[in-house]
Amino acid sequence: MSLLAVGTVAFDALETPFGKTDKILGGSATYSSLAASNYIDRIELVSVVGEDFPEAYIQMLQEHGINTSALQIKHGEKTFSWSGKYHHDMNTRDTLDTQLNVLEKFDPIIPDQYQDCNYLMLANLSPKLQRKVIQRMRKKPKLIVMDTMNFWMDMMPDELKETLKLVNVLSVNDEEARQLSGEYSLVKAAQKIMKMGPDYLVIKKGEHGALLFHESEVFFAPALPLEEVFDPTGAGDTFAGGFIGYLAATDDISFGNMKRALIHGSVLASFCVEKFGTERLVNLRQEEIEGRLQQFIDLVQFDIVLEDSL
Ligand code: AMP
Repeated sequence: MSLLAVGTVAFDALETPFGKTDKILGGSATYSSLAASNYIDRIELVSVVGEDFPEAYIQMLQEHGINTSALQIKHGEKTFSWSGKYHHDMNTRDTLDTQLNVLEKFDPIIPDQYQDCNYLMLANLSPKLQRKVIQRMRKKPKLIVMDTMNFWMDMMPDELKETLKLVNVLSVNDEEARQLSGEYSLVKAAQKIMKMGPDYLVIKKGEHGALLFHESEVFFAPALPLEEVFDPTGAGDTFAGGFIGYLAATDDISFGNMKRALIHGSVLASFCVEKFGTERLVNLRQEEIEGRLQQFIDLVQFDIVLEDSL
């Protein structure tokens, strides 16, 4: 199955209680594509960078089966850059700076050979551009998963609501779900957000796992209790990439399979946070994913026969 990923490819400067980095590889499409590359052989990437973007990063993406031929390189311009600082609990962070740079005039061109992609990952990006991508697909993809963040809720709430009407799955964190819906209860928030368009809603709760909502059903995936969390940056994008990568590989978009995809997303996110930036994802091996899937199964499996427990 084919997967098209659109979003940001960025330079990130990060500050966590464990250290500081400057200008490392980041971006929503980078994390999502790297995560999905564990499930499918070829991912079509549509994004933009400036002439300051190192060739070595492009090569690394290609080595992971990510086709970069539609990654636009803008001469004389700078790559999108973002910096953030994490609080001591690592669950909350402040955006220190966002420099849109090349993103300001980004026109996401979808080449002819990508037009038949069945799965579309709209990683975090301006909702106006996300909608443009959907409109430019000549054949509607089988599944559209969209990620977004508070930045776009503040900057362009109306554009965001228009785009939400066109997607199947929205993935946000708990704070963003509350902001978008105006509801504190996540159950009420989910019902409101699903009325805005998406049939499925994923609400990520950091170290407290993730919820998948559909109609009146809800499913929960835990996060693995980890000894060390170095840098949560990109965990949300990685989660979404693992989620859609698994769905694309199995080509099954039933609610039952989405539950499995939620676990795969959580597994991938659990690796992402173990090192700074994309480092852990770049070096991830298949056996490690399988081992961690087993840890997830062991974490939540218990035997209760209902009659006996009463
Ligand atoms: P996450 O931690 O999953 O929210 O994703 C963090 C990644 O998103 C970083 O690598 C940033 O480069 C990227 N990012 C930050 N702000 C934005 C934005 N406004 N639009 C798109 N991507 C962003």
